[in-house]
Amino acid sequence: MTTPILPGAKIGVLGSGQLGRMFAIAARQMGYRVHTLSPDNDTPAGQVADVEITAAYDDLDAVRRFASSVEVVTFEFENVPSATALAIAEIVPVRPQGEVLHVTQNRQREKSFLGRNGFPVTPFRPVSTLSDLQSALQKLGTPAILKSAGFGYDGKGQVRITSVEQAEDAYRGLGPAEMILEAAVDFECELSVVVARGMDGAAVDWGVIRNSHHRHILDVSTAPAEVPPSIERAAKKIAHAVVQELDVVGVLCVEFFLTRDGRLLINELAPRPHNSGHLTIDASVTSQFEQQVRAVCGLPLGSTELLRPAAMANLLGDLWEHGEPNWHAGCGFAGVKLHLYGKTEPRAGRKMGHLTALAASPAEAELLVTSARRALLSQYAPAPSTMLQSLPSSERQME
Ligand code: AMP
Repeated sequence: MTTPILPGAKIGVLGSGQLGRMFAIAARQMGYRVHTLSPDNDTPAGQVADVEITAAYDDLDAVRRFASSVEVVTFEFENVPSATALAIAEIVPVRPQGEVLHVTQNRQREKSFLGRNGFPVTPFRPVSTLSDLQSALQKLGTPAILKSAGFGYDGKGQVRITSVEQAEDAYRGLGPAEMILEAAVDFECELSVVVARGMDGAAVDWGVIRNSHHRHILDVSTAPAEVPPSIERAAKKIAHAVVQELDVVGVLCVEFFLTRDGRLLINELAPRPHNSGHLTIDASVTSQFEQQVRAVCGLPLGSTELLRPAAMANLLGDLWEHGEPNWHAGCGFAGVKLHLYGKTEPRAGRKMGHLTALAASPAEAELLVTSARRALLSQYAPAPSTMLQSLPSSERQME
């Protein structure tokens, strides 16, 4: 058995966004030291880390110095060059290992891996040329979605094609690059399962989470998803099989479409904690970030028990359009927790923070969290008595 890396040790994180920040908070709570490396400074993760290194991912001298100063390296951002993961792995373990990054950072490789291993995926065709796209459209039909194979997230690098005539414009808009064409799935809802797997191969999940997106960006997640037990069992089984097949040590999220005829199709994998799992910070015994710390350090995994139904609402930069959100009003909702990522530039579509609500049911939690988010846009803080009226009965109790 590999010797565990114990509290007091230094953990390196590649990437410095909000996922790194929440990882660093969990790691420091457990007494670890955290070093981050990314091309930016004063970053969400760097602000709470012990050491923030500013260097390009392909500056291999800086990367090697970073690796030499820590005992294990993990990442919060999968678009790190393979050469970087390889250079680190010569010095300290990288968890999950570089091969997981290699597969999941490219949609063609990821979907081919899933298809090859018998996992249900959205119908797709690889596209490199305009004629590939035209024949893929013949096969898959319209509507379809053309996606760049690399560096895509939150709907970036995607174009919806509703007729064959749009092929050339869509291709020129994204290309020339590796792409995939996917059939547009007519889904009932979107679901995700976050799984953590330790050094000993034991894996745990947080159940099925229900996700709704707005303009291709996650908007609200609720847990439990309240899907039929057969769907829940199937989604969890697939997620565990994926994490096993990829031999992940760490956290991985499987995003699904549940089609109107009851089939689960994998949309995407994320080999790290995921936005839909942020609610585990407030709602579960062990959060996805603490679990990433435990997994990459070789500690036993913690309980994933959900303490109460929960909902998470993202706070995008759009909320700042007319000035600073009304934090006082938002914090007046007693069952709601505020998480901000320390980003100073609120751009439209940029994830600046999130709110989590706990309540008696997922529907109540969703109502509460979206009401609190709406209150952030109010101009004046309402009197506390008014706010309490607007809460579900179970939440009418000030902390
Ligand atoms: P992605 O970046 O691929 O996860 O896409 C972001 C969001 O766009 C998804 O969560 C869906 O809401 C939507 N989307 C992406 N691909 C498809 C598809 N093939 N069919 C229907 N909706 C999709």
